Amino acid sequence: MGSIDHAQADLDRHVVSRADGLCVACGVPGPCEVNERAARLFRSSLKLPQRRADVSRPELFGARRVGATGLLLAS
Ligand SMILES: [Zn+2]
Repeated sequence: MGSIDHAQADLDRHVVSRADGLCVACGVPGPCEVNERAARLFRSSLKLPQRRADVSRPELFGARRVGATGLLLAS
């Protein structure tokens, strides 16, 4: 696995939850060090990470997808 692939995997795992602001993998507030390091690698490589839907656990604060666009709506 290349370093960009590794960084993408780190970003997929170390997501800040929209419900409580904690990393879903580490449980620390805000972007954790793993997330920050992976983001720095993407910045230095001039590539953008892929964002994956629902990894920030929006369902924890009652958000649900609505309409054809799949926008999140908090209830
Ligand atoms: Zn983390």
